[in-house]
Amino acid sequence: EPRELPELLDPETMRALLPSRPGHAHKGSVGRVLVVGGAAEYTGAPALAALGAYRAGAGLVTVAYPSDARVDPPLEAVRLPVSRWQDARLFEAKAEALAVGMGGGSGGGAAARAALKLKKPTVLDADALYPEVVKAYAAAAVPTVITPHPGEAARLLETGVGTVVQDPLGSACELARRFRTTAVLKGGPTVLCEPGRAAVNTTGNPAMATGGAGDVLSGAIAAFLAAGLAPWDAARLGVYLHGLAGDHLGRIGLTAHELAEALPVVREKLE
Ligand code: AMP
Ligand code: MG
Repeated sequence: EPRELPELLDPETMRALLPSRPGHAHKGSVGRVLVVGGAAEYTGAPALAALGAYRAGAGLVTVAYPSDARVDPPLEAVRLPVSRWQDARLFEAKAEALAVGMGGGSGGGAAARAALKLKKPTVLDADALYPEVVKAYAAAAVPTVITPHPGEAARLLETGVGTVVQDPLGSACELARRFRTTAVLKGGPTVLCEPGRAAVNTTGNPAMATGGAGDVLSGAIAAFLAAGLAPWDAARLGVYLHGLAGDHLGRIGLTAHELAEALPVVREKLE
């Protein structure tokens, strides 16, 4: 449990975390992300994660999804349809970071277990958020950021959602301790914890309570991991910019893809 007060995410600290882009940058040098997700009934979530990753500055995004799911990634993404999650092509995908579980449905656990073999820093979200799955990542010492909403956090902690929303910071820190991870507990406000430190986001608003918003966040955090940021920095910067995008749009009825589109705008303002 952190003894100090949680850090409030402020613009100066977040600006200093923005990865620089040197003149000799190329798409293979600024961070490659592999999104692993999708199921027959959830085709949009991995596509939104891919968009979030590109809009957060990823150089190359590959989307691995079940070949029987009609996933339609952005034009700019590389497609990697797999007939089963243990497909060897998944393990050969070139990426410095992964985003796993978005729209995975009942196959999310299998997708995450396969993706674990790449042993790269990974954002675990949605259908990858089961205790056995997240524990397997901790046991393999793979750096992770988990991004549960309160319902997913309750499932991980094997408690009720009421317990989580009653004490978000305590719940995030319990997740961090139990799963040896960087925990992002989404909500108004989103709180973050990893063993020894905690933070509270200062951006975002209830208009962001809309389908797919969390998928965009997972992709953005993965992009910052791929750019070389530590999990704590990638998580804080991703959460802060995602909330800033929501504040920039600021109106009820905003959609998840608009949140992604606003990321470069708010990033430029922050710079
Ligand atoms: P998900 O439930 O996975 O789609 O994630 C929802 C996203 O929207 C998260 O990034 C939340 O932090 C954000 N969000 C939802 N409701 C609010 C709220 N009331 N205030 C601020 N952010 C919110
Ligand atoms: Mg979600």
